[in-house]
Parts: sequence; structure tokens; C-alpha cells
Amino acid sequence: MAAVFLVTLYEYSPLFYISVVSLCFVITAAMVLGWFGFDVPVILRSSDETESILPTPEKQMVQVTNPFCLEMCSGPMSVTDGVFLRACCLEPCILSCFWGCEIGALQGALQAHQRGPRLSTPRHFQEALRFLYSYCQSFSISSEDREGHHTQIPADQGIRDFGLLPRRCYPLVAVLTLAEQEARDTYNIVASVTVIHVPDDKYSLSARIVFQYLFTSQGNMYELKPLFMSAGSEGASGPTEADHNIQQPGEPTEEEASRVEPVLEEEEEEEVEKEEEEDEEEEDWSDGRGRDCVVCQNAAVNRVLLPCRHACVCDSCVSHFQHCPICRAFVLESFALAQGVAAGEQ
Ligand SMILES: [Zn+2]
Ligand SMILES: [Zn+2]
Repeated sequence: MAAVFLVTLYEYSPLFYISVVSLCFVITAAMVLGWFGFDVPVILRSSDETESILPTPEKQMVQVTNPFCLEMCSGPMSVTDGVFLRACCLEPCILSCFWGCEIGALQGALQAHQRGPRLSTPRHFQEALRFLYSYCQSFSISSEDREGHHTQIPADQGIRDFGLLPRRCYPLVAVLTLAEQEARDTYNIVASVTVIHVPDDKYSLSARIVFQYLFTSQGNMYELKPLFMSAGSEGASGPTEADHNIQQPGEPTEEEASRVEPVLEEEEEEEVEKEEEEDEEEEDWSDGRGRDCVVCQNAAVNRVLLPCRHACVCDSCVSHFQHCPICRAFVLESFALAQGVAAGEQ
């Protein structure tokens, strides 16, 4: 009876029709806007708003002193013209340049360090490489030495290229070892191995560091990987190394070079997080004017997101992100560039 009445009313009263439609509209709008206490629909929410997001796990780090720093100087580089390398070391060192080092021999040497006696002198390396390289040149580097050293295969060897791809040897492997036994006992890191691509007629890709390893006295091996710093609005006097990667090392001042302190992850991690720009960061922090966090623009950048390695947020903002604000990569872990920096500054 009531239904029949309603239907009749609906058919004959435009006013009733309009009010029913309006009521439906108001109820829908109220639901969408969350007036009834329902959760706000996902489409209206910022994806990084975070009540329900678990904080990113923090990776525990240990800080160690790396006595070695090796860079490529700018200028023309090729197999025939040679390469300028600059070592900025905390202790007297020996730079050994192995030209045309066989890939298999280098892999063998890396394993030999982990299994057998530690490779801490040029002689150890030569034996571990089983002398499978074309030419070896050594330089003594003092701790104040900031000069570039020119290494080149002698013309009488007749080596102009290392053949077509795929290749069996790396163009150049530069090994830094500590010159004095006393220093070898002091430092945890005893050698640095840098694999460098050098262009030649057969493969003209520009010269660059392909990878870099650090050897520890305990027989561990860590790979050095670059960090990507966000450029800050303040104190950014032109582009910094932060915007580049390891292939374009900057020109550190003596002050920076004397403070080469990489961050080593815990023992079980086979990685080292450190690059030249980190030194620059430390300098900024020591002046109390670190680069701004890209999110709050208020605190210094102190967090590196993994696995993308963007250093762009501060300690308090890191917990609000599941995705890197720069590249949108999913954040699995993060670590602090310096412990307690945020606390100290605020
Ligand atoms: Zn922040
Ligand atoms: Zn990223």
C-alpha cells in the first residue's frame, strides 16, 4: 500500500523526484568526504601519507677510516696516451698499475684475498694475478702527494688496444697498498683495487672507473658504490659531485682528502657506502649548514635510501616514505650518513 503510494507520488510529483535525487547526492558526497567516519577513499589520499605505513628498517653501519682515495684526473686518456691518476692517501702508499689485467686473474686474486693470505703488498698482488697482465708500473705516493701520476704502456710493447668485445682483460687495474708495515697494522683496510676502463681504437667508450673494491685485514672485500646527493638550495655553489656519479670524480681539496672516512656496513654486508661527495657533506655538516631535506626543507639531509642510494631526506622525514621522493623507487632500507647529527643540530 505504502509502496503503491510512493510510486504514485514519484510519478506525479517532480518535487519529490528532485528531493530524492538531492538526498542521494548529499549522502554520496558525505560518504566520499568522510563525514560518517569512514576511511577516506584511497583516490583522495596522498600516497605517502603514512599512518598505516611501517617505518623503513634502518641498516646498522660502522664507520671506518679508509686510507685510500684514487681519482682519474681530467684530460685526454687512451691506451696509447696513458692515464693520469691521482691518489690522495692518509699514509705513504704504493700505486701499482696493472695494464691489460686478465679478468679471470683478477677474480682469482679477489678470491685469494678472502681465502688465503691477505693481499697487502704489490708483490702479493702480482703473485695472486699470476703475472697475467701486460705491463705493471708502480709509483710511491707520500701522504702529502696530491700530484697526478701518469701511467702508460711503453710504446715498445706495441700494445695499442685490448681487442674486440667481449674481452678477456681489463684495460687498467690500479691497486693502492700501504707502504709501511706499521700502517698495515693500524688500518683495517689494507688495499684498494680500482678497475678502470681506458678507451682505445677498438672500444672508444670514455675512460671511467668500472668498479672499486676495498680489502680488509680480516680478508673481507667491500665494493665501493656511489651515493647520489640531492643538491641543496643553500650553499650550492654550482653543481657538486653529488649530481654526478663516480665516473666524474671532483677535485677534492686537501682538507677533504685528509678526512676520507667511508661508512662500512655491518660485517655481513658485502658493500661499502661511500663516495667523494660524502666528504663534502661532512664538511658542510661541520659548518652547521648541511643541505636541506627535499621534503621538509628544514633539516640537514642525513638519510640514504636503499637500494636507489639517494641521499635526500632528513632523519624525521625518512619514516614517512615508502618510495624515494626523487626516483620513486621502493625503499627497502635506509642508513644514516652521520649518527646523531640531527640531534646535535637541533
Ligand atoms: Zn625532512
Ligand atoms: Zn631514489
